[in-house]
Amino acid sequence: MRSHRAFVAKLEPEAKLTGAEAAHLRVLRADVGDTITLFDGAGLEADAKILALEDFTITLRVGESRVVNLEPPQEITLAIALLKGDKLAEVVRGATELGVMRFQLLVTEHSDLKEIGAQKLERLQRVALEASKQCRRAVTPLVLSPIKLKNLEPVTCGLVAHPGSSLKPREAYDWAVPITIATGCEGGFSGSEIQWLETRGFVRVGLGPRILRAETAPIAILGALTAGEGF
Ligand code: SAH
Repeated sequence: MRSHRAFVAKLEPEAKLTGAEAAHLRVLRADVGDTITLFDGAGLEADAKILALEDFTITLRVGESRVVNLEPPQEITLAIALLKGDKLAEVVRGATELGVMRFQLLVTEHSDLKEIGAQKLERLQRVALEASKQCRRAVTPLVLSPIKLKNLEPVTCGLVAHPGSSLKPREAYDWAVPITIATGCEGGFSGSEIQWLETRGFVRVGLGPRILRAETAPIAILGALTAGEGF
């Protein structure tokens, strides 16, 4: 059986887990003497032995840390329009597994939502943490609070998914530089938003002849770029 994984902000010789991380290990019935894997969300992990289990705190002795690199060759930012319901959580989960380094939430013309609460943002960050734990990444992507699309900084290489575009993702990108991927909300990007993105370093790409749901499109484009290329 693979050892359980838990997140700790800093890998020091003795670690204390509290809150959700401790509760999760309790659910998994971890016990004194068990060895688990700790990771710091920034690329390091270490084996750790459970020394004590108290109600809300688990104390561990932490071994040598090691660098774990399951990252794609370049950093991937997903700039995604705000979506309704729990769809963003679905995207954050899948896109974390597919190697995204950073989520930039966007307020766009057609977004029904114009903001999200601090609690929801925190939950999305938690989803990113759980997903990185599950897929064995030692890096946990950041979920950045929403900005207006027009405040997005210019990018070196950007792909904006837009139905009807003939360029394919892999024809538009070759892993020479970091990449930003933009995908729209249920109503898509407006024509003027697409044009504006094109002045900021983005090219339009298509994902086949069918219209994908707003939560499917980011997974499809990432699947083509990372999973499909062995990254
Ligand atoms: N109502 C819009 C579709 C929005 S789909 C329309 O009819 O144009 C939501 C988002 O998913 C889009 O903004 C785009 O980023 C992405 N998307 C969905 N299907 C796509 C496709 N076939 N090619 C490229 N992008 C697509």
